[in-house]
Amino acid sequence: MELYDILIVGGGPIGLACALEAKKNQLKYIIIEKGTVANSLYNYPLYMTFFSTADRLEIDEIPFITTKAKPGRQDALEYYQGIARQKEINIRPYEKVLNIEKSTFFQVETSKQIYFAKNVIIATGFYDIPNLMNIPGEDLPKVKHYYTEPYPYAFQNVVVVGSSNSAVDCALEIYRKGGNVTMIVRNREISKSVKYWVKPDVENRIKEGSIKAHFGAELLEIKPNSVIFKTENGETQEIENDFVLAMTGYLPDFEFLKNTGLDLKGECLNPNYNPETMESNIEGIYLAGVVCGGKDTHLWFIENSRIHAKQIINHIVSKP
Ligand SMILES: Cc1cc2nc3c(=O)[nH]c(=O)nc-3n(C[C@H](O)[C@H](O)[C@H](O)COP(=O)(O)OP(=O)(O)OC[C@H]3O[C@@H](n4cnc5c(N)ncnc54)[C@H](O)[C@@H]3O)c2cc1C
Repeated sequence: MELYDILIVGGGPIGLACALEAKKNQLKYIIIEKGTVANSLYNYPLYMTFFSTADRLEIDEIPFITTKAKPGRQDALEYYQGIARQKEINIRPYEKVLNIEKSTFFQVETSKQIYFAKNVIIATGFYDIPNLMNIPGEDLPKVKHYYTEPYPYAFQNVVVVGSSNSAVDCALEIYRKGGNVTMIVRNREISKSVKYWVKPDVENRIKEGSIKAHFGAELLEIKPNSVIFKTENGETQEIENDFVLAMTGYLPDFEFLKNTGLDLKGECLNPNYNPETMESNIEGIYLAGVVCGGKDTHLWFIENSRIHAKQIINHIVSKP
């Protein structure tokens, strides 16, 4: 039986940061990753720009050098995958962790085999499960919860749901490639968290009518050739539609967290952990990265959660 000091679930930026810290402390570790290295970033919109400057996305103080102050998806993939290669990180891509049980050690069942570890770090992020609207027609093939690039939407009637960074980026990109964009926004305005250099752009496009926007509105139903929504004053409207981009956010895999035995607190289902050590309610299971926010996916970023790696490994090495 091969016994690891630490098994890390998830090979995103924070899982990698934990691996680097474990390696520095001569701990025997392994990362199990269900996709490619930095899989969430791989699935981001192709032309996205991070709101963080490159230095704030660095892990283990390894310089993140880019020609632009704010890196894009490809820069970040080069950086994180480059680290995995150069530092010979022990990672098993395309293997999913299915179940974690505690006996003498943690027994971790994956889609390929069973591993044994003294400690487990859950760094599974939140990008795999879309936050559904639960309305009729949401399962039609023209409805997308992930946006990649604008070109499929040229000369099409596109509804974008939401007003966060993802919604605004895709509305602007599609409009600029000739799509007829209508934004349906539950709030009264474009989200305050939208990147400061992008917010005036979208607001001005809405003001001049290049992008249509309905604030205080709610999408009610999606049909093959139209959508029905409720306007701010309670009226229902039906408009012609070819595609719906539901940029309504994403959620951590709560089923996996619950099955592991983690306590999830309150409305946001925040995992319960000690903020000093990041240890969960189960001794030896730690939480790291953006998964820590539960449904509140605007709480943790790479910027402020990369510190979790040091907190966790310091605690593990200090154990008797
Ligand atoms: C479009 C977008 C832009 C963002 N921009 C910024 C920014 O500018 N600055 C910033 O600081 N943050 C930003 N964030 C937030 C943050 O960067 C990301 O959420 C980041 O990926 C978090 O890193 P992580 O390692 O915690 O999680 P992830 O990167 O999501 O990594 C989790 C990994 O776990 C894997 N996984 C999940 N379940 C399992 C399982 N059961 N078994 C095995 N593997 C599993 C996933 O495949 C994934 O690779 C952005 C997020 C989005 C969506």
